[in-house]
Amino acid sequence: MISAVKFIVLIAALFFSGSIFAQKVNEPKNNPKEWSDKTEPFRIAGNLYYVGTYDLASYLIVTNKGNILINTGLANSLPIIKENIKKLGFDYKETKILLLTQAHFDHLGAMADIKTETGTKLYIDEKDAAALISGGKSDYEMGKYGVTFKPIKPDHLLKNNEKITLGNTTLTMLHHPGHTKGSCSFIFNTNDGKKIYRVLIANLPSIIIDRKFSAVKDYPGIQNDYVKTFEAMKKIDFDLWVASHASQFNLHEKRKPGAAYNPMAFSDKAAYFKNIKDLENIFLKKIKQ
Ligand SMILES: [Zn+2]
Repeated sequence: MISAVKFIVLIAALFFSGSIFAQKVNEPKNNPKEWSDKTEPFRIAGNLYYVGTYDLASYLIVTNKGNILINTGLANSLPIIKENIKKLGFDYKETKILLLTQAHFDHLGAMADIKTETGTKLYIDEKDAAALISGGKSDYEMGKYGVTFKPIKPDHLLKNNEKITLGNTTLTMLHHPGHTKGSCSFIFNTNDGKKIYRVLIANLPSIIIDRKFSAVKDYPGIQNDYVKTFEAMKKIDFDLWVASHASQFNLHEKRKPGAAYNPMAFSDKAAYFKNIKDLENIFLKKIKQ
């Protein structure tokens, strides 16, 4: 595995070239209030649960061999996620695998602490490895803020379409780069005893830069990555979908606090495809400028 060797070299280089781990974390402030607000955790479908903040989605997948936690919000999301897992009757310490949809501070601010507290293994898209190890400093855009989250050493680097299995559940990682080099989505089947649902946890490819793609020297393939991601995301087949931000899939319109279990609340596929189309239109307009 050549990538493993490259990866070790990368870690060593980062360790010795400025001791990233000793640098102060400068998490951007003035974030939307909704990112730090609490919300009621709930069962989405089968073994998939929402345990995030009001807008920063975190997903818990409960298997017969422990749990998978996807995304961990800001640094201050940690107590909210822990409380949400507990409220649902699950054990935070049973978290066995951590996953991530994109290496931005609003989706992994609490990741390093969770990894330390639970001893969980972190699996990420291989292309986001440098961003994680540098605490976001290597990101083509967010790097301007320096280290924006506690640097983390991932345990396993995922390739496109690689499967992640824990107990009775297998997810497939879908490489959807552009927003970050290693942005990705996950798809898996969940069974609630009545029905099997194919669930997509989508990372929507929004654009975060004002400058031209050609000016992004730290990510030369960015424009082409967006093209490939739009093509791939238009072809996905699924029954239910959610996303990295609650607002991206209108969670709070689809479900009100106290509502009964209703997987079909997340079956609006037309909204998913419209989201992709709208983002692609923004992209096409930008490259014409
Ligand atoms: Zn982002």
